[in-house]
Amino acid sequence: MSIVATMDGVDIEDVRAAGRAIAGHLEPTPAWGSPALDEVTGARVVLKHEEVQPTGAFKVRGGLNLLAGMAPAERARGVVSASTGNHGQSLAYASGAFGARCRIVLPEPANPTKVRALRGWGAELVLHGETMEAASAHARALAERDGARFVHPADEPALIAGVGTLYLELLTAHPDLEYLFVPVGGGSGAASACLVAAAVAPGCRVIAVQSARSCAAHDSWRAGELLERPNRTALEGLAIGAGYATTQAVLRRHLSDFVLVDDDAVRAAQLLLLTHAHTLAEGAGAASLAGLLAVAPRLAGARVGIVITGGNASPAELAAVLAASPAEEPAA
Ligand SMILES: *Cc1c(COP(=O)(O)O)cnc(C)c1O
Repeated sequence: MSIVATMDGVDIEDVRAAGRAIAGHLEPTPAWGSPALDEVTGARVVLKHEEVQPTGAFKVRGGLNLLAGMAPAERARGVVSASTGNHGQSLAYASGAFGARCRIVLPEPANPTKVRALRGWGAELVLHGETMEAASAHARALAERDGARFVHPADEPALIAGVGTLYLELLTAHPDLEYLFVPVGGGSGAASACLVAAAVAPGCRVIAVQSARSCAAHDSWRAGELLERPNRTALEGLAIGAGYATTQAVLRRHLSDFVLVDDDAVRAAQLLLLTHAHTLAEGAGAASLAGLLAVAPRLAGARVGIVITGGNASPAELAAVLAASPAEEPAA
């Protein structure tokens, strides 16, 4: 039935294998309807809750799959990557689960909350440089020097296959979804959503969402070539300045549409998730709802999957979201 036998090093069988590899490590996450959000959006929504993962974000699925697939000798040399956020936590958590050494390079000054979380999962932190680019180059150099595995945040087939298990769970439980909104940074989540939908729910159209302030993946997809763009969004997880080869190749073939949203619209969606769906989403985790809201008049009555990719919002971020909140009218 699958029209997508293989592509770009990842196929549906890789996603199914990833599901088996991570099954002993993670529970499936819930996917619920939300009548209160149906009323606001006019669609029939299903929220997929990745904010309940142990690391607070969907990326842990990819990290666990990557570590599961490494040979013991390779694991012993460890993994190295650069990340200020959920990718770093994913690798740290997965390395802990598999007893591998994990080094995460962060630019200075490092956010103390994130340092605490990474150390908590057992990662060694290396502070280097002032930008993510500098940190990433240093991570690559360390890996080369020590024979360790450098892990790219998106251009990694094992990460794409691992995060694809989220969409396999969702589309197996809800095969009648007509649209699926997925936030995009590097694009591994959206690429995996595309290949899973093509294989198990071909009637489901995948729509990517990115911040208009960091639109490299969007512009690369529209242009059909890898482009760099200014990277100005405050939404961590979506703050990427270039299109990546592996993920763009998949998106080019299977993505239905790509929506850009303002950071303010994402903050409003975060608030809506708090007030209407008792759901704590970080900015990137609310972007798919913002994407739906941007095109909602066209999707009246449609069955729509909304992925809450993560819940790691800082107290300052939540204070800003609540400060923008209009005083609630008492219900009539
Ligand atoms: C990384 C991340 C994204 C974007 O995922 P990509 O696979 O890089 O496109 C979205 N939401 C959250 C919470 C993230 O951590």
